[in-house]
Amino acid sequence: MNNKEKLKVDPIKNGTVIDHISAGKALHVADILNISDTDGEIMIGLNLSSRKMGKKDIIKIENRNLSQEEAGSIALVSPGATLIIIENYKVVQKEGIDIPEEIHKHIVCPNSACITNIENVSTRFKLADKNPVQVRCGYCEKKYSIDKIKFSF
Ligand SMILES: [Zn+2]
Repeated sequence: MNNKEKLKVDPIKNGTVIDHISAGKALHVADILNISDTDGEIMIGLNLSSRKMGKKDIIKIENRNLSQEEAGSIALVSPGATLIIIENYKVVQKEGIDIPEEIHKHIVCPNSACITNIENVSTRFKLADKNPVQVRCGYCEKKYSIDKIKFSF
């Protein structure tokens, strides 16, 4: 392993690594995870070369586990992402994340006229298309590309 590769895989003791994020999507993933509220070490790698993907992004977050909702939202933004859980410098779990068929609460509807933005109603979105990912609001029934979506946790 040369020095350059070593830097990229600088280990964390405990926490979560989100690997194989589509290049350019890491900052969107970081938004979903609201990482400014995390006090552990965070490493974000952008446009790293990957044998499998050409280019990829990666995020490592110390002392943080993801909820199922957070993992599902990451899969919407970057369907090929891999979730790796690290304990005491060892990989204890490594798995792809499934795109959820439904997302409750965490998506903000981009339609300002939607009832979810007017009254205190929790949003409910369904997956409308997988490639590219599109979701449909359960209230105004409009379909949105995932790039137009804001998440809130
Ligand atoms: Zn809506």
